[in-house]
Amino acid sequence: MKIPFSRPSIGEEEIAEVVACLRSGWITTGPRTAQFERDFGAAVQAPHALAVTSATAGLHLAMMALRLAPGDEVITTPITWPATVNTIVLCGATPVLVDVEPETLNLDARLVEAKLSARTRAIVPVHYTGQPCDLDALGALTRARGLRLIEDAAHAIGAEYRGRPIGAIGDAAVFSFHPIKNITTGEGGMVTTADDALARAMRLLRFHGVERDAWKAYGGGQLPLYDVTAPGLKYNLTDIQSAIGIHQLRKLAALNAERERLARRYDDALARIPELRPLGRAPYPHRHAHHLYIVRLQLERLTIDRNRFLAAVLDAGVGLGLHFTAVHELTYYRDRLGDLRAALPVATDASRRICSLPLFPGLSDAEQDRVVDVLEQTVHAHRR
Ligand SMILES: *Cc1c(COP(=O)(O)O)cnc(C)c1O
Repeated sequence: MKIPFSRPSIGEEEIAEVVACLRSGWITTGPRTAQFERDFGAAVQAPHALAVTSATAGLHLAMMALRLAPGDEVITTPITWPATVNTIVLCGATPVLVDVEPETLNLDARLVEAKLSARTRAIVPVHYTGQPCDLDALGALTRARGLRLIEDAAHAIGAEYRGRPIGAIGDAAVFSFHPIKNITTGEGGMVTTADDALARAMRLLRFHGVERDAWKAYGGGQLPLYDVTAPGLKYNLTDIQSAIGIHQLRKLAALNAERERLARRYDDALARIPELRPLGRAPYPHRHAHHLYIVRLQLERLTIDRNRFLAAVLDAGVGLGLHFTAVHELTYYRDRLGDLRAALPVATDASRRICSLPLFPGLSDAEQDRVVDVLEQTVHAHRR
């Protein structure tokens, strides 16, 4: 029995809507994307929701909309997918990595203040695994200094912080619909914001910088005239993809409830394998989106390192993930930012220990039990 790391939950509703879209004659951005944006904005209580081709595209738009200049600094976490830092660098700014909390591996708000400088423009936390960062603490830092709080919410669809949905709190939040994420459109993403100016800037940048409203200014009415006031990109989501997203979003609560049930089953089963330590929970009220289930290998009790552990479990037919290799361990960032291993001790240590277990709606209890058996056998075979 081979068990994948992840598998999307696509139902007949998604398939029928895609077929209807294909038959409708309108397949790129149009009415279904408009509906997906309205539904998503309503779900996270955000006045603006912009559908984009990926979370990476959304992060790129958000960073571009901040008009970062060379020398500007953006504070973020080393425990993230490269997109978070790459988009900062691609806009000419310098990422400043701040260490993470030992139990959640979320950006440690208590360490951020010491890293703020006259050049800091924004803080980009990641709600790692779907567990919200301490947004009150981070928001207090950004508001006091006129900085921007842009959340990488790729893991956090359906998560809540102190009773408010992720997507309604910071200056902007960016979600991912990659097939391994909690809901999918094949590839895709969404940026939400309550800031009218930020929404307008990102909307322009999403589609070439083309001012559609400019037609009116020229009195063009129905004429296909357009204008560009600043160059933009081509990051709009198609209606074929939004057709999937509309139905995925309707299933979000049920999909996340199943993730939560499976996460609890892992909590119970792993209690008997002390060599594999799950992450801890944040002390403030929150709803966890359970995007990932991470365990930290107690390497002191094992004779093999994490990579050999991964290989052994993969050999036994269980798909594990690695989320993530710390950013400062990646060649470009090591060359550019220098050796940060001593400055980021928690992230450096976690990066050597973590692996992600299969967690997706559709993983059967029997399959999950098999995952735990393989983990236990692998640990026992390599115990000190
Ligand atoms: C998946 C992911 C992204 C990128 O999402 P895409 O939609 O694939 O571009 C960004 N940040 C984090 C933390 C992610 O896990």
